[in-house]
Amino acid sequence: MSTDLLWSARHVMVIVAHPDDAEIQCGGTVARLVSQGIAVSYVLCTSGNRGTNDSTMTSDQLTHLREAEQRTAAECLGVSDVNFLRYDDGDLTYAALPLRRELTRLIRQQRPDVIVTHDPFAGLARYDVCYLHPDHRATGQVAFEAAFFCAGGSLFYPDQIVAGFAPHQVGALYLVMSDVPDGCVDIGATFAAKVTAIRAHQSQWGRQPDLEDFFRRMAEQAGARWGVPLGESYRLMR
Ligand SMILES: [Zn+2]
Repeated sequence: MSTDLLWSARHVMVIVAHPDDAEIQCGGTVARLVSQGIAVSYVLCTSGNRGTNDSTMTSDQLTHLREAEQRTAAECLGVSDVNFLRYDDGDLTYAALPLRRELTRLIRQQRPDVIVTHDPFAGLARYDVCYLHPDHRATGQVAFEAAFFCAGGSLFYPDQIVAGFAPHQVGALYLVMSDVPDGCVDIGATFAAKVTAIRAHQSQWGRQPDLEDFFRRMAEQAGARWGVPLGESYRLMR
């Protein structure tokens, strides 16, 4: 199974664009990894500081609120290492170079075996739907470059190496939200924890009456191809 490498990892780093992406896309997997003693850390490229329709809310207030929600959600799954990079929500495409430098430094510092991040590819050539949030695409692209090209290369950001962060080769990337997943994790035992963690994102999901049913249907669809009742699917890149 293409998800096997997750279970032999010592440290899995989850790099996502916004608060709630990790819980929605891989929360059940994260809870399983933690329960097996595998270290999991989060990297949030933005703090979702534009994700509201409330005109009385400031960007700083929203950052504060969503980071608190994200810490609570991570705790529900057993994750205490949450890193906020605080780029502006919606602008990641234009922050690629500084973001790549920061992700490279974090990868060299934390030395994960496996990274879970967004699929940067736009999928099949269907132009009738706006497929991907630009921040998801940018996060996936930049995380892919940082993991597979920069972190292991001594000529990328040599100042980091001088500062003590030695080059590091990441073994595998697991991509969420992929159009072409090739594996699935059974989250039957951790689905309830996943839903509790998503509920912690009150500012985004507080008014969703059928939240559990919504995510149950999503997990059923994700697992169907593999005969898994409730799943989270991934595309493996090595
Ligand atoms: Zn997102």
